[in-house]
Amino acid sequence: MFQQLGMEWNLSDDLHHSLQKFTCTMYCSTPGTSDINELRYRLFCLKRGDVESNQLPPCNDTLRKHSLQANYQAAVWRRSLQRCPDIPSPVGSGWCTEDGKLVIDWMGGQPSPQAVLELLSCQCSRSCKLPSCSCIVNGLKCTDMCRLQDCTNKPEDDNDAVSVYGDDDDAEDSDWLESHEQ
Ligand SMILES: [Zn+2]
Ligand SMILES: [Zn+2]
Repeated sequence: MFQQLGMEWNLSDDLHHSLQKFTCTMYCSTPGTSDINELRYRLFCLKRGDVESNQLPPCNDTLRKHSLQANYQAAVWRRSLQRCPDIPSPVGSGWCTEDGKLVIDWMGGQPSPQAVLELLSCQCSRSCKLPSCSCIVNGLKCTDMCRLQDCTNKPEDDNDAVSVYGDDDDAEDSDWLESHEQ
């Protein structure tokens, strides 16, 4: 299976399926399934949810991205003895561009269903910023469940919140006024 990596620039469905099966047996000696999402769910239930994310196999989506990267890298190495190898862009093979820079494309979907994302919240009291805000740390926008309702990490299309609470510039202006009145 690993010898097939990098034979072609694209990762075939067959190879992805074999890699998925292999990864299942890495996390469980008798997985009983070659569907990694199913195994991830079963292991989570087996430990009644008391499990760190690194003890669970990756989901199908992230495993596929990782396999794409491994396949691309192997394909480059396979051509290491060619004088001018014809190498396609890594974009789409587990990498993408962000502000013109090449970055790892970790996953294609949401980290969890939308209904669950809406229940997540941070407990920031003054402002939402790194490293303390759990929403920002996890790359998520703040929700209506968060303690602060006028932070800069609210979704941009959340017009109601902006009109009710005022935008961030106003808040800074009033801070400035207060400090200068004293
Ligand atoms: Zn926060
Ligand atoms: Zn938040």
